Amino acid sequence: MTVMNNLSFILNRSHDVEFAERPIPKLSSPYNVLVGIDYTGICGSDVHYWDHGAIGHFVVRDPMVLGHESAGTVVEVGSEVETLKPGDRVALEPGYPCRRCEDCLAGHYNLCHKMVFAATPPHDGTLTGFWSAPHDFCYKLPDHVSRREGALIEPLAVAVHIARQGQITPGASVVVMGAGPVGLLCAAVSKAFGASKVVSIDIVQSKLDFARGFAATHTYLYQRIPAEDNAQAIIAKCGLGKGADVVIDASGAESSIQASLHVVRMGGVYVQGGMGKADITFPIMGLCQKEVTAKGSFRYGAGDFKLAVELVANGKVNIKQLITRVVPFEQAEEAFKAAKGGDVIKILIAGPNEGVGEFLKA
Ligand SMILES: [Zn+2]
Ligand SMILES: [Zn+2]
Repeated sequence: MTVMNNLSFILNRSHDVEFAERPIPKLSSPYNVLVGIDYTGICGSDVHYWDHGAIGHFVVRDPMVLGHESAGTVVEVGSEVETLKPGDRVALEPGYPCRRCEDCLAGHYNLCHKMVFAATPPHDGTLTGFWSAPHDFCYKLPDHVSRREGALIEPLAVAVHIARQGQITPGASVVVMGAGPVGLLCAAVSKAFGASKVVSIDIVQSKLDFARGFAATHTYLYQRIPAEDNAQAIIAKCGLGKGADVVIDASGAESSIQASLHVVRMGGVYVQGGMGKADITFPIMGLCQKEVTAKGSFRYGAGDFKLAVELVANGKVNIKQLITRVVPFEQAEEAFKAAKGGDVIKILIAGPNEGVGEFLKA
């Protein structure tokens, strides 16, 4: 069904949402394309804005369209666009750097201080009918990759960036703290990068059961005991010898972060991918004495989306498995409630335009 409207899902303030028509965006540059949004995944950050009206110093002061994990269909291209045409199906990279500052020019555009990122106040997100974007931030999906899979390229790109920060090499042992969507995807990317042991850790057994069928070679149910004791149990149970080569924290939980430093081997790598409390107690002595390389990871940068599409296209990451449910656009608020409830991995919101027709058939 083709309905040329621009119905948008808008957060006024915490738990106060509305559906409203917004003007269809114009192509603001000859290098932009207009994309009709087909599917949007709900991310933890979207739920956090909906639930609390803010993340750290990013506060929703004016009504903001939610959503940033989207795939869609190109409906119009600017006069200078050579790589895309109407009808192409694309995954959207939803953050647009300035391309001119030192960080951008050094290739670290995710660190650009002028970044315009979807659904990060004051910028609107992608739970809308049409989205105007620079053509080089829209990634064409191969014919055999669906638009639903396309909506999961964004969180996969987050995991690609984390795994790159972890310098995972063939044969490595990798421990991933947290088996939410990003933790699961970090496990899958680690495996795709050649890790021979991939350990998923969580406090919820059902998430570990899923992780085992998805990418993990080993799992560990995190216990309510000191972080150091959990770490010893992980090393013993998973045969990690002198510790893991790489530990990724995709949970943001204080205890997991502490355990990460106890699990990593001498000279190993620890990557902080999850965001939780701003300040925690950190075992800094271990960092020093083990000569651990510690890295942060923020969103994604050069080449991450491209590789994410390739990992799905060549079957290295079976991203479809993460889709728990697809709901029509009108049920966006219910989808947020279900996402907060936590017994889903990824919910996709269809539409508001042609995706709905496909949902009704599915
Ligand atoms: Zn996200
Ligand atoms: Zn910049």
